[in-house]
Order: sequence, then structure tokens, then C-alpha cells
Amino acid sequence: MTRSYLADLNREQRLASEHGVVARGSNIAAPLLVIAGAGSGKTNTLAHRVAHLIVSGADASRILLLTFSRRAAAEMGRRARRIVANARGENTPGASTSLPWSGTFHAIGARILRGHAPSIGLDPAFTIHDREDSADLLNLVRHELGLSEKDKRLRATNAAEPLDVVLRENFPWCAAWEADLRTLFEAFVVAKQRQHILDYDDLLLYWAELMRVPELAAAVGAQFDHVLVDEYQDTNALQATILLGLKPDGHGLTVVGDDAQAIYGFRAARVRNILDFPKLFTPPARVVTLEQNYRSTAPILAASNAVIDLARERFTKDLRTERTGGARPALVTITDDIAQANCVAETILENREAGMTLKDQAVLFRTASHSAMLEIELNRRNIPFVKFGGLKFIEAAHVKDILSILRWAENVADRVTGFRVLQMLDGIGPTIAAKALDRLAGRDPFDALATFTPPARATEHWRALLTLMQPLRQWYQPHLEERYADAVVRAADLDQLQRIAAGYTSRESFLTDLTLDPPSATSDESGPPSRDEDYLILSTIHSAKGQEWKSVFVLNVVDGCIPSDLGVGTAEDIEEERRLLYVAMTRAKDHLMLLLPQRFYAHQQARNGDRHVYASRSRFIPAAITAHFEHQIWPRRALATAGVAPATGVTVDLNARMRGMWQRSGT
Ligand code: ATP
Ligand code: MG
Repeated sequence: MTRSYLADLNREQRLASEHGVVARGSNIAAPLLVIAGAGSGKTNTLAHRVAHLIVSGADASRILLLTFSRRAAAEMGRRARRIVANARGENTPGASTSLPWSGTFHAIGARILRGHAPSIGLDPAFTIHDREDSADLLNLVRHELGLSEKDKRLRATNAAEPLDVVLRENFPWCAAWEADLRTLFEAFVVAKQRQHILDYDDLLLYWAELMRVPELAAAVGAQFDHVLVDEYQDTNALQATILLGLKPDGHGLTVVGDDAQAIYGFRAARVRNILDFPKLFTPPARVVTLEQNYRSTAPILAASNAVIDLARERFTKDLRTERTGGARPALVTITDDIAQANCVAETILENREAGMTLKDQAVLFRTASHSAMLEIELNRRNIPFVKFGGLKFIEAAHVKDILSILRWAENVADRVTGFRVLQMLDGIGPTIAAKALDRLAGRDPFDALATFTPPARATEHWRALLTLMQPLRQWYQPHLEERYADAVVRAADLDQLQRIAAGYTSRESFLTDLTLDPPSATSDESGPPSRDEDYLILSTIHSAKGQEWKSVFVLNVVDGCIPSDLGVGTAEDIEEERRLLYVAMTRAKDHLMLLLPQRFYAHQQARNGDRHVYASRSRFIPAAITAHFEHQIWPRRALATAGVAPATGVTVDLNARMRGMWQRSGT
């Protein structure tokens, strides 16, 4: 008998949702893998499975739901609770259905480590450093050790491989420095521990290490009956170790993903995690595949399939759709990136005229800087937008300043943060700051330094944080004006920060969340649009994972951009870039436009003083598959008049704009 709330699912989706769930039984099912292509309803199925578990008697507080971003966790939680509420005939979801343990691996790891801090030698008030903080500290340590500049790109931790292997395989030219690097990393670890700091990688490393202690692993594992993971193709070796530590026999474990969408290899994610999952267990995990795509029209799906069919290896199969009709995706050839920005802005407005909201549309790109020209154009036309990926709100220097003060209040041992705060003061450079920090060692710096306003240590809770923010900001204001030319615009970001903080009950949880999963960049001049307002989404392809829009634009579908010429070397890197294009294309429901500027201005291409880069269509769309696309040239009217520019009544000084751009980007 099928429950009504599962009736909308297809047969395989239902199988996956119901796998091992028996009414009033223990419900701890054998391991399950759902592997299927984009838009086949994997995330939807996971939400239904969570709901079905709860309706069948599972304790929602004992469900661990691991997703790729906090946004995704919140969305999945909302969906599951809505399904449960409907099933129970309630108007609003009850408190018993809220999922306290849903979030990213990093956020959940931080909570678990804090919870067990006393028994694993950690200070429960440890602070979390983002990647930039980490790099700062590593530099500081290197400087103190008197070691010369070594390759900063080295990332051994998440691959869970020994240093000598990583060096030999990936950085053969560094092998000679192995001893130095060892000294450096040891000192780095000691520095972090002395200052009660964990960085992103540490959250997973410490969690995985904790799971190697049988008693602790058993205790953490026993907190959860069900562990469900979305986007499993983008997990790394440590995350796989953690999962296996939580549920060694796989019972209660469900993972979901698509190997064709693996796009985080550059951060040591390994697609083998998902492919090898079934074989980890005896008997092997059950595998459910989904075959129907519910997201895209047939022509969009066909073009996406054609792109990914050229991949060297792939497990998931092509999907079919019942959404017949609709136009083929457009391949738009365009003179340069200024015209590209125009074309996109114009088409977006046309769509809006035709009744499509801005929120139904998204512009995707390989690298955050690719949208610069478009951002200028959108501002010019007063089209509100929000940008995901790239420079995050929290990484902006002024936001970081304020957070540093709060973070220092939270953990006075955090030297990197103290270093930053002290150097905000006029006349204090690295040397004096370091001296001051030495002098302050073991004392509360807020007592010791008369220049700092509130003694912050005692303020635990949010009310205290709020009353703290105001004096802190008053203290900060003159520094903001001195440090940044656009202080007024930046001040709006700080108001936004205050609004975000208002949603938290403690300073600790606010800082943890903000560092782990920062809100997106805001600093466009109009300030962030409010929740009810309509706005366009700009996003890196990486940050667009799992999402969908009616109309999708992909910028710069040319060689050098997709695949990116940044750090693309091996055949594997190229394959990852191909999957990125597939991820981008499969975000579209009804309309898809790929843009091919034939020429654009680029950084680091200033050979002979020429900043024009001539580009050709991405190698991922070879002639053999172009029949899946509709070829267009823009501007449309210019084509008709064969090169005679049509009168628009608009004059702009593009040279001035270009100069302005280069001055701003400091090149
Ligand atoms: P991705 O690989 O991009 O993460 P996915 O496999 O997780 O995609 P979902 O995001 O869950 O796919 O679903 C894609 C779209 O299809 C959503 O709009 C969802 O509501 C819809 N959908 C999923 N299953 C069904 C179904 N059985 N009937 C109708 N619509 C469905
Ligand atoms: Mg999904």
C-alpha cells in the first residue's frame, strides 16, 4: 500500500524512499545508494525518505542529514517537514519534525568536536579559520621559521595521503623541500593548537581521527539512527572515513549522487567514493538508479547528454524526459564580453517582459571574475542581482575586520585574529602588533588595552552581543573611513551583518556558521535586495550545484574559460571541466543560452601590451554535436544590416569604461 505522500514519486524514487522502512519497526535499513543523472529527483527522493522515516516513527533528532551547503540543508529540511505535515493533516510542521542535525560536513563536524572537546583535548571555545586565515597563519609561521617561500598550493590533508606520496605524485619539484615542509607543517600544527584554532581541513581531520577511537566512534554513531548524504560524488576520503566510522556495517546509511557531476576533484574529492560505496559492505549496498529527468525540456536534455556522452568514463546513464517541445539551447556568437553583457541583460529583460521573474533566471560562469562586465551592465540598467560564489561577503576586508574583533573576543588566544585587530590601529604594524600580543599573553587583551572599548569576555549570549556590536562599530567607524575609500557602501554590509547576527542565540554559533557557510557577496551599490524583492542570480557553476532555474545563461563557453586555463593540466582536470559544463547546462528547465564571446579582455595576457584574447568555442562542444544547438549571432539586427550599426540613440564611452575597470581591478 502506497502512502499518499509518496504517490507523486515514480517507482524507483518510491523504492528508495521506502527502502527498509517498516511501520513501527526499527527502521534501521541496510545501506542504500541512489545514483542518477541531473534533475532525476535525487534530492527530492532524499527529502521524501526523511519524511517517510519520520512518519513511520523515526526520531527526527536522531537523523543526520549531510548536504553540500547550509542553504541546501535548510531547503531539504523545509521540504521534508512540509511532506510530514501534509501526511499528518497539519497546517504547519510541528516541532517534533525539525531536523536539528542537518548541515554540511564541516558544520556538523564542528558541533561534534565541540561536544566532545573535553575528552579529545580541545578547548570547546576553539575558533574556526577559513582558507584565507589559514594561509595567513601558515605565512606567519613560515616567516617565523625563516623558511623561504614554498609552494602554497600544497594540499595534503583532505586527500588523506602521506606527504611524501603527495609530493612525489603532484609536486615533484617540491620533493627536495620535503624536510623543510615537514618542519613547516609541524610548526603550523603547533601554532594552531596553541591558539585553539581549527581550520576547514582540521574539522574533517579531527572528526575522522575521533572516529578512529572505538569508544568515541561508538558514542557518536549511537547518536544517530539514520545518516543521509546528498551530493556524495563530491566528498573526499576523510568524509568517507567519517561515514564508515559512524555506521561501520552501513545500516542506517543512505547516500545519493551523480558521478557525472563530480566537480570538486581540485579539492581532493574523489568520485570513487560513490562508485565504490556498494562494495564497502557485505552484502553490498542496495543500488537504486533513476531514469527520468523532471527538470529540463527534451532539447536541453539532449544537448546536455551530448556533452557528457563525450566523457571518458561515466557510470550514470542518459536520462529521458517527458517534457517534449521547447527550443534547442542557443549558442550565441558575439563579438566580445561587452556585447555579451548587453545580450544577457537584454534577454533577461525580454524574459521579464514576457512574465518570467528575475528569480527564475540565473547567469552562471566558470570563475567569479567572469561576471565583472555583466555586473557593471546590470548596475547600469538597475537590474538587481545577488552573486553566489567568488568573493564572499565574509571575505570582504571590512566585514572581516568586524568579525576579527568578535572572534578575538571569543578566543583571545587566536593570534592571527589579534594580529589583524591590532593592525587596524593607525601606527601599528606587524612588529608592534606581534610585540603587543606577546605582552598580552595570558591576559585578557580587552583589559590590557585601553584603546579597546568593551570588556567582552563575559558576554555569552546574543543580547549581550547586540549591545556589544554598537560600541564596537562606533569604535570601528573612524577606521572604516580611513581604511576604505567606499566606506558608505561598506557600512551597509555591516548593517547586513548585524541583521544576520540577530538570528543567532550565541556569539559562538554565529561565528561558527558565518565562517563555515558565509552568505554570498553583497557589496553592489544598491545593497542586498530584501527577501520579497525580485532579483537575478549570478553564480559560479560550483555554487549552482543542485539548483534549477527556468532560464539559464552560461557566460564564456570558450576554450580558456571552460575548460579554464587556470590549473588545467591533466586529462582528469579536463574531464572535471567537462562535467562542470554539464552541471551548468542541466540547471536549466526551459531556456538555455550559451555565450561565445570571440574576444575579451583578460588578466595576465598582456603580451605585447595587448589585452585582447581571441577565443574559440569550448572544445566540449565539437562540431559533431552542434546540431543540438540553435546558432545565433548577436546583436540580431546588426546581422540583418550587414555590419552597419543600427541607431540606438545611446552613446557610451567604452574606452572610459574599460580604463575604469582596469583601474579598479588594480591591473
Ligand atoms: P541534481 O542532480 O541537479 O541535484 P536531482 O536529481 O537532485 O538534481 P531534484 O532537484 O530532486 O533532482 O529534482 C529536479 C526537479 O524535478 C525538481 O523540480 C523536482 O521537484 C522535480 N521532480 C523530482 N521528482 C519528481 C516526480 N516524481 N514528479 C514530478 N517532479 C519531480
Ligand atoms: Mg540534487
